[in-house]
Amino acid sequence: MSLFVASRSAFRAAAPVKRSFQARRYATEPTTPPAAESPKSGSNSTILLVAGAVGLGGAGYYFLSGTSAAKKAEAKVKEAAGAAADKVPGVVAKKAFTGGEQGFVSLKLEEVETVNHNTKRFRFKLPEDDMVSGLTTASAVLTKVKPEGAEKPALRPYTPISDEATGYMDLLVKKYPNGPMSSHFHDLVPGQHLEVKGPLPKYPWAANKHQHIGLIAGGTGITPMFQLVRAIFNNPEDKTKVTLVFGNISEDDILLKKELTKLENTYPQRFRAFYVLDNPPKEWAGGKGFITKELLKTVLPEPKSENIKLFVCGPPGLMNSISGNKKSPRDQGELAGVLKELGYTPEQVYKF
Ligand SMILES: Cc1cc2nc3c(=O)[nH]c(=O)nc-3n(C[C@H](O)[C@H](O)[C@H](O)COP(=O)(O)OP(=O)(O)OC[C@H]3O[C@@H](n4cnc5c(N)ncnc54)[C@H](O)[C@@H]3O)c2cc1C
Repeated sequence: MSLFVASRSAFRAAAPVKRSFQARRYATEPTTPPAAESPKSGSNSTILLVAGAVGLGGAGYYFLSGTSAAKKAEAKVKEAAGAAADKVPGVVAKKAFTGGEQGFVSLKLEEVETVNHNTKRFRFKLPEDDMVSGLTTASAVLTKVKPEGAEKPALRPYTPISDEATGYMDLLVKKYPNGPMSSHFHDLVPGQHLEVKGPLPKYPWAANKHQHIGLIAGGTGITPMFQLVRAIFNNPEDKTKVTLVFGNISEDDILLKKELTKLENTYPQRFRAFYVLDNPPKEWAGGKGFITKELLKTVLPEPKSENIKLFVCGPPGLMNSISGNKKSPRDQGELAGVLKELGYTPEQVYKF
């Protein structure tokens, strides 16, 4: 019998989080949405948010003026105002990345945080304090570096994990031994600059574009998925159901786990996450080894379901076995691997 007793119909009977696939119990879907899922009012509350943010922050600034706390308060006001401004109809926040003729923008590294043994979070300052990145979902940025002695610059895509932030952009980057770009990132220290270009459009998302989506990610392949998930759950109008299958080597490698768990607890009827580890700890309720056909068959929406989409992102080995690799950044290549064997069509699958 399958380890993964939780079935495709899990959402019909989904429930608050229990980590074990076998032991998961699901509450009946409520007839009224939980508070966290109820739609917020639109423009009026957004305008209030702008006014409130500026008002509150302004008061803080008055008392703290001249101190470093005052500077932080000022930055917070700008951030709140910028973020809210983008949501007010007719008011558009300034975008750092505008594409087209813009070319590469030199961003200053502000802060580095070690996340685990091979991954760091890099916070880059956007050119102006009240700017947002301006990336749409799903899209990425392209970074450029010319390693010493190399003939050509290296160009690699990254997906920010801070889409709506004002004044900064966060990238989560895993270091690969001898990988020119990720090594360059990990050698950077605050104050240094990086060449960044965007947006690099991927799959254009719109609220309720699909009824149910499946996300299959390996390692840092979670970042584009996280962007998608945030766009969905930050939008009260969007009712899309999401199933995530996330493969990693060890528990320590699971990026954004806290954020994903929070989403699972807040939207138990709409967001489910299944974790698979190559090297699980002794007490591990999730999947072991690679992401298997059996797991995907059990938890993903069925191929014959109406209006579903599957997204895949991860290292070449994972892509190869799950969906087949992309041919090039602009060519999805043929659908192959487990998803093809399970009967999904090329139109139902998007490879990041
Ligand atoms: C749409 C998109 C978004 C991405 N977002 C992020 C992100 O937010 N954070 C991040 O760290 N990386 C992300 N990546 C991967 C990133 O672009 C680089 O491929 C990675 O940092 C390795 O670059 P490198 O120059 O250091 O090494 P490379 O010389 O390019 O490769 C070094 C090793 O990494 C393996 N590798 C290549 N691509 C990947 C990949 N996608 N996943 C895992 N292993 C890979 C190669 O097989 C090789 O063994 C993303 C990729 C895509 C396509």
